Amino acid sequence: MEIRRRSRRQIRDWALAFGPQDMAASRGEAAAFLSLCLAALGVVALGDLLGRGHGSVAAFGFLPVMGAGWFLAPRMVVVVAAVAVGLRLLIVATGAIDPVTAFAQALTIPIFAFLSHAAAVGVLSSRREEDHARRLKAAGQRASELEKAKSEFLRLASHELRSPVAVLKGYISMLGTGDLGELPPAAAEVVPLLTDRVNAVNTLVEQMLESARLEDSRLQLRPRVHQLGTLLPPAVDSVRPLLGEGHRLRLEEPIPEVALLADGRRICTILNNLLENAIKYSPNGGEINVRAVYDRDTVRIEVKDQGVGIPKAGMGKLFTRFGRVASESTAHIPGTGLGLYLSREIARLHGGDLVAESEESKGSTFTLILPKHDRAPGHLRQLVEA
Ligand code: ADP
Repeated sequence: MEIRRRSRRQIRDWALAFGPQDMAASRGEAAAFLSLCLAALGVVALGDLLGRGHGSVAAFGFLPVMGAGWFLAPRMVVVVAAVAVGLRLLIVATGAIDPVTAFAQALTIPIFAFLSHAAAVGVLSSRREEDHARRLKAAGQRASELEKAKSEFLRLASHELRSPVAVLKGYISMLGTGDLGELPPAAAEVVPLLTDRVNAVNTLVEQMLESARLEDSRLQLRPRVHQLGTLLPPAVDSVRPLLGEGHRLRLEEPIPEVALLADGRRICTILNNLLENAIKYSPNGGEINVRAVYDRDTVRIEVKDQGVGIPKAGMGKLFTRFGRVASESTAHIPGTGLGLYLSREIARLHGGDLVAESEESKGSTFTLILPKHDRAPGHLRQLVEA
């Protein structure tokens, strides 16, 4: 009983050792096919013995060898080829066929086995590559359909939300100014909160609209000549009300006297976004430093904070549409992941760029790079003339 169990285990180990590795056949199929090949070789050898002196029957011995090459794992092919060569030599020894023919066959059998196996592996791997390419293409199609659905959602939602938000904003502002009459003290108390929330929704709708325009190539810049000194201080001042107790916001003076050819409103939106992020992602306070430097061709505006920073793995996501970097320290901070995406695209439309450097837990520096007025790209100049 024990011996039988052990021999069964040995057979299984043997099957595992010689099992197919790079072929499509399953272990059971391979074992059946191997037995068939060996049986065929036996029949060929028997034919040679019976039809003494010919050696022609031996040619059939190549068939199982080639078949093994196509369907079996390398080690099994070696077994079949070795058995075939062994049988050839055995038959020469019995004097059934002439030694020269048998010797030539014994030499060519392994070559045939190797060639047919190599051919089979080649065909199989090219089929695998085709499958892989097909799967990649299908995944690419799915991803682009998803992107289209996102764009469609942005377009629809932003258009539908635009007018109701404008109405709400108007009425809330009238409530605040008293144009709709004196409010009871309890109602007057919630007006600032309402104003704050409706402004947040308005910014979100604006971002969605801008993103939809960008997707449809409908985003039209309105460039004018601006002095850096007239753009930067108002943008910095506009975020001061958002500063928490531990925050210090500093704009390095003097601001370089350089002119830019730019869409002023949109450059302010980019600066606002960078400054609001610097505040938002520094929940424990810290210094936020803004400075502008220039060289022969460009102006670089840096916004540097000492906030939560960005993990290395998240840097690739920063400027993607809806890209938010997930981390424990930012999970509770609300956002859409549209701000940096839009900011960089708009900077690039100006012939500039937006880049980030960051170290987790230490802080981040975002740098907006814009060409100086006399280096502005041709398409911006044309828009001014138009
Ligand atoms: P939002 O802030 O609305 O999520 P953004 O596009 O402005 O979208 O920013 C994308 C992501 O980049 C944010 O979710 C945040 O993870 C990260 N990020 C942006 N600015 C900073 C910053 N100053 N410090 C740390 N992380 C930042």
